[in-house]
Amino acid sequence: MSCTANFSTSPADRLYEQDKQRIMPFFTPDDYLSSVVRIDPDELAGQGFRVVLLDIDNTLVPRDTHRLPEDVARWVRRLEEAGLRACLLSNNWHKVVFEYAAEIGLPVVYKAMKPLPFAYPRALRTVGWQRGEKVVCVGDQVVTDVWGAHLLGYHVILVKPQATKDLWYTLLFRRFERWLLRNHTPRA
Ligand SMILES: [Mg+2]
Repeated sequence: MSCTANFSTSPADRLYEQDKQRIMPFFTPDDYLSSVVRIDPDELAGQGFRVVLLDIDNTLVPRDTHRLPEDVARWVRRLEEAGLRACLLSNNWHKVVFEYAAEIGLPVVYKAMKPLPFAYPRALRTVGWQRGEKVVCVGDQVVTDVWGAHLLGYHVILVKPQATKDLWYTLLFRRFERWLLRNHTPRA
């Protein structure tokens, strides 16, 4: 009788590792880039994606300047040129999101409460999503944007926060994110 048990780790260690492998994919982005402008809309379209759900704060608009950078505005226009339909999906509950949406030129679903799934269908309806169309989510937070998208089975691209300024509770989550992303480096 052969014995393949690994006696170098305890049962508790093995259970912990199994659990980690089940849970970690929810928090692991499919891609990780330094900024949204590094995402190639033509490449997304080529991969079969049709709908893009975009976070706003620190993804498109830095929290320190509150201004839409010109290169980001150009990138948003490239989404449409590539045949992608985009909607803003934000946890922000302030009326400023409507000013951002007007400036960005995209529809918005706000008070989204990501990672909860409820607002995602509203955003998809907004852009006329059809069953079977591939969805990609883009955001700067693991706990809201990555986890929320993966709970629904959507592809998710994480981008580096565009400013170090953030809400106090987001800064708490950032500590957890740094640990989760300790082995990941954003592509330039
Ligand atoms: Mg954000």
